[in-house]
Amino acid sequence: MRALVYNGPRDVSVVDRPDPKIEKQTDVIVRITTTNICGSDLHMYEGRTTVEKGKVFGHENLGEVIEVGSCVERVKVGDRVCLPFNIGCGFCENCERGFSAACLTANPGNVGAAYGYAEMGPYDGGQAEYLRVPFADYNCLVLPEDAQEKENDYVMLSDIFPTGYHATELAGVQPGESVVVYGAGPVGLMAAYSAMIRGAHQVMVVDSQKDRLALAEKIGAIAIDDTENRGVEQVLELTKGKGADRGCECVGYQCFNCAGHEVPNLTMNNLVKTVKATGSIGCVGVFMPQDPGGADELARKGQIAFDFGEFWTKGLQLGTGQASVKKYNRYLMNLIHAGKAKPSFIVSHELPLEQAPDGYRNFDARKDGWTKVLLKPGK
Ligand code: NAD
Ligand code: ZN
Repeated sequence: MRALVYNGPRDVSVVDRPDPKIEKQTDVIVRITTTNICGSDLHMYEGRTTVEKGKVFGHENLGEVIEVGSCVERVKVGDRVCLPFNIGCGFCENCERGFSAACLTANPGNVGAAYGYAEMGPYDGGQAEYLRVPFADYNCLVLPEDAQEKENDYVMLSDIFPTGYHATELAGVQPGESVVVYGAGPVGLMAAYSAMIRGAHQVMVVDSQKDRLALAEKIGAIAIDDTENRGVEQVLELTKGKGADRGCECVGYQCFNCAGHEVPNLTMNNLVKTVKATGSIGCVGVFMPQDPGGADELARKGQIAFDFGEFWTKGLQLGTGQASVKKYNRYLMNLIHAGKAKPSFIVSHELPLEQAPDGYRNFDARKDGWTKVLLKPGK
């Protein structure tokens, strides 16, 4: 099969790889029809992680089941499935409580597993023609009959729609509240969209990318352009000096080690300033504790600037971590099926797998208009 592999920092290519096989009788093989490039892939792409050369990337996957192991009961050949990025076993004590992102089985000796990701187990990703799905009865979300028609919506259930929703859940967004979202990337836009779904009366999205802010406006959020570092001031003005009821961090660890691409990591401090006293913050942006080539020693250890004094004085609460996608994706699927959610509004590009390296280059450069890139193997 053809698959996208990592060769080194900012160097990926599409190569021939052996087709995956059923390894355990609880596996299925999926023919991938859509697989997205994610902001999380950029942590590996930019060389901030320990990911090994030759790893197949891709954790936002959707496709058709073409082979099932003899112990698979629920999933059938021909089913269209969306695959949560976390690989869970379904039976460990964390999966049992709904925290599939912290599965104790799928990545032995570690907590949590995922497709095609550094330190998340031996699993290849789905930016390829085929993918092996372990613990398949647990890890496949079987899609309804409009699966093909709404494929670009349903594929968002693999990660960023549940992740954006998770940010609002961690922040505890309630109907009628105001919410400030840092980051208008795919995850931030999904958090803003989720805040709307949860009935927020005012959603403010802060970024410096005009094309992404325009998408935030399109869904009814207030776009706040932080190009001149006036974001905090504007949020405070809009909330009559009090700050928003809730905040979402959807930026995470940015590039520290390449000239001309440095983004000051101010988001947590800005959230502390713009969320009201006793409010709460959901942080889904990834702060990875590795940055092998990084110049900033604290950032390399995952230690970011964060005004804990003001955070404490204001009595703020903070929720963090990976989304346990399974907790949300069935309900969010129902919204898509019923025509009440259309997360594909963020899709900017659909590329054949062979053009994935271009997709990475442009998405990584945050080139104007490159918001969310979907790869279509087989096209
Ligand atoms: P992205 O890199 O495309 O988006 C980040 C956005 O933040 C960009 O638009 C950028 O311009 C903006 N930004 C940078 N610095 C900023 C600042 N100081 N203030 C405001 N905006 C700023 O990535 P994405 O796909 O949207 O992902 C966002 C984060 O979410 C990444 O860290 C990613 O790894 C993480 N993520 C987490 C989970 C999870 O389960 N917790 C899942 C998926 C992605
Ligand atoms: Zn992702």
